[in-house]
Amino acid sequence: MIVRVSLEIALRKEFDYFVPTEMSGLVDVGSRVQVPFGPRKVLGVVTAVAEESAHAKLKSIIKVIGAQTLVTPKVLKLAHWIADYYCCAPETALKSVLPEAVRREEAGWRERLFVRALPVSGEFPKLAKRQQEVWNILEERQEMLLSELVGLAETTAATVRKLEDRGLVTIANEISERDPYAHEQILASVPIGLNPAQADALEKIKAAMGRVGHTGTKAEGGKSKSSSTFLLHGVTGSGKTEIYLQAIAHALEQGKGAIVLVPEISLTPQTVERFKARFSSGKLQTLVAVLHSHLSSGERHDEWHKIRQGRARIAIGARSAVFAPVEPLGLIIVDEEHEHTYKQEETPRYHARDVATVRGQMEGAVVVLGSATPSLESYYNCKKGKYALLSLPERVDNQKLPYVRVVDMRQAGRGGKGPPIFSNQLKEAITQRLERGEQTILFLNRRGYSTSLECTQCGYVANCPNCSLALTFHRPEQKLRCHLCGHVESVPVVCPEPKCKNPTIRYSGLGTQKVEDVLGKLFPKARVRRMDADVMKRKEDYRKVLGDFRTGKIDILIGTQMIAKGLHFPNVTLVGIIYADMALHQPDFRAGERTFQLLTQVSGRAGRGDVEGEVFVQAFTPFHPAIQYARRHDFVGFYEQEIEFREQLKYPPSSRVALLTLKGRNEEKVKFSAEHVRRDLDKLAAAGGKAGGPTPATDMFADDGAQGVARPAGFKDLVISGPAPAPLLRAESFYRYQLMLRTRAMSRLSFALADITSRLTLPDDVTLTVDIDPVNLG
Ligand code: ADP
Ligand code: ZN
Repeated sequence: MIVRVSLEIALRKEFDYFVPTEMSGLVDVGSRVQVPFGPRKVLGVVTAVAEESAHAKLKSIIKVIGAQTLVTPKVLKLAHWIADYYCCAPETALKSVLPEAVRREEAGWRERLFVRALPVSGEFPKLAKRQQEVWNILEERQEMLLSELVGLAETTAATVRKLEDRGLVTIANEISERDPYAHEQILASVPIGLNPAQADALEKIKAAMGRVGHTGTKAEGGKSKSSSTFLLHGVTGSGKTEIYLQAIAHALEQGKGAIVLVPEISLTPQTVERFKARFSSGKLQTLVAVLHSHLSSGERHDEWHKIRQGRARIAIGARSAVFAPVEPLGLIIVDEEHEHTYKQEETPRYHARDVATVRGQMEGAVVVLGSATPSLESYYNCKKGKYALLSLPERVDNQKLPYVRVVDMRQAGRGGKGPPIFSNQLKEAITQRLERGEQTILFLNRRGYSTSLECTQCGYVANCPNCSLALTFHRPEQKLRCHLCGHVESVPVVCPEPKCKNPTIRYSGLGTQKVEDVLGKLFPKARVRRMDADVMKRKEDYRKVLGDFRTGKIDILIGTQMIAKGLHFPNVTLVGIIYADMALHQPDFRAGERTFQLLTQVSGRAGRGDVEGEVFVQAFTPFHPAIQYARRHDFVGFYEQEIEFREQLKYPPSSRVALLTLKGRNEEKVKFSAEHVRRDLDKLAAAGGKAGGPTPATDMFADDGAQGVARPAGFKDLVISGPAPAPLLRAESFYRYQLMLRTRAMSRLSFALADITSRLTLPDDVTLTVDIDPVNLG
């Protein structure tokens, strides 16, 4: 037997190996194997099985990893799609579909010694006192961990071994699963009666599940009339999660499993609990497996294998859970689908939401994307008929959306010493809340104390030596820090400019530490806590603060985006957004969209109880559309005006972007290389309607034509811009230059780019990355 193996060292080539007879029963497509490669031993995945090979003298595989094939043929196919579309080596894509702990098999099942009582036949022997005590415990429990028994009986393993010698018990190694949530007490929950909007949405999702189940996948059947991808647009608190839960229940009834993707930041115990409460407690033993980076590698190994073995039918996790080996797969949920953490910022640079829609098509599963602030891409896809739109326009239980007031900070700063941190309106509102015993959330998306250190005489600004970024002042430890590379230095006493040495250097700009500081002076009696990456070092910290807030031990919570979403605290009646325009003026075409999303999500934290909520948005550009539409909770209005701008400038979603970044330590070389790449791209564009590179045979993600149909090559709509210095020219001591490509025919462009980059010769110290559908233009 011969197998073709894709090796982890990315070579864009596969190799044939011989399978020794004793291993042949263990190997199949998708098996993980270790093979010799030159003098090394490397890991790989079997992609095909054959009778013979064109090569003579094949080497044998060394070992097979895992008793079961780890990569299912379906996930294998998905990995190939990722390699094609995101322009990376198939080996790299394959590597990312398995968690590290499973791939390297560094953590196996944990085997532990169990003691089991044997039935007593005949007369019970006379035991020594200690042995009798041990037996008494075991007779009642029948079986337990040896270590637990030894602890309970306050004895030694030797005593238990004596019972084994006498034929009363067996001691054997058994698999003991690690359960990361073993210590949680989870109360079972039952389905809630849905309101009409929820019921309508659920019906449509169920109907689609019936459809795809019977007619096969869309990809095989050509364009089907009704979509099996839904965008669930529901305002904050409209009951989206309840719909997810009931849709999953329906998938289980059909004998299928589900994947739930949540942004890493929402993977709080509360989120996981809601799913476990419905499916994993009480009599319902449908296991929910959780996959995320906070688990130990042993826990990750066990959770993943529970899914692979089909014992867990629901997988919840961040980005990479989109590859969970759930089979058969009935449903994929992508919660907070607009979140940028779904995009992986290293190769393979895939977007989990988009991979989810492709996987859904491949496997005939229904996909539900949910958000209160959908991405422009997803809403556009609804308009174009690719996705079906489901709307939940109101909060459940007739709760009103909070009343949002925009405070013009240009006015607030007039006559004084520049703008204050708190406008009078916000100060008054906080005072009221403190008097009434209600809670407040204050939001500022920047940590640290001051955002820059400047010399008032020569204009010197303290910048990071490795990045083109100003250093942030952190007061507790009296240090300047770079938020990009982590560089730390002490605060100068005088201006470091040799000719200046001015002793009055000034801090300007605003961070959460300063907000906390000033708040303490304004409201000395208030119990204030800050929540940002500087204080939340461990996951317990996060739970502790949220727990204290929930139980009313904190009056005012200040935080960065960490507190922007998902939190549900009925006693919060006031939200203050300290500086709403902060992200608005960044050189990124999504700056407005991001600001709209953030304001809407943060506002959504207010008024989740009986008392109506109020939001104060402090802004220096109060009439900016992103702020005004957020004030009115008007997503559709925002979409309409924003899409016009995107269409005019050919930005997504009206076209697709590929971002090519060249980086290296020598700026001249980087620039020169970028110009070289530009010339290659120009040739591609010039080839126009003729030979524009190879054409992918099938295009699951087509935006520009029918699926599965080979189209004539050519890039008539290709727009190439650059090379230009990246918005952040220098990051972590690397200079970066960028080229931006825009086209609707992205699948085809990816193919052409793979071809160009494989033939490209760059200086040794210059690297090129290709980012398809980038979310970070940095
Ligand atoms: P979203 O996910 O849209 O923010 P949730 O699903 O978290 O909203 O719902 C908010 C709250 O309302 C939850 O406590 C949930 O249990 C409750 N809820 C959901 N649907 C209903 C309903 N139909 N009737 C009453 N309460 C509901
Ligand atoms: Zn830096």
